[in-house]
Amino acid sequence: MTCKKCHIQMREEKRTFHKQRKWICPRCGAVRFQLTKKTDKK
Ligand SMILES: [Zn+2]
Repeated sequence: MTCKKCHIQMREEKRTFHKQRKWICPRCGAVRFQLTKKTDKK
């Protein structure tokens, strides 16, 4: 996951929010959520 503005690698937040991965840009502080894939079966 890279920041759209800075084009650098974002760091992943340890917490998950509604089965979404939270990514934070260390440069501009932008937050993005990555949807978990449906193929993720238990
Ligand atoms: Zn950024």
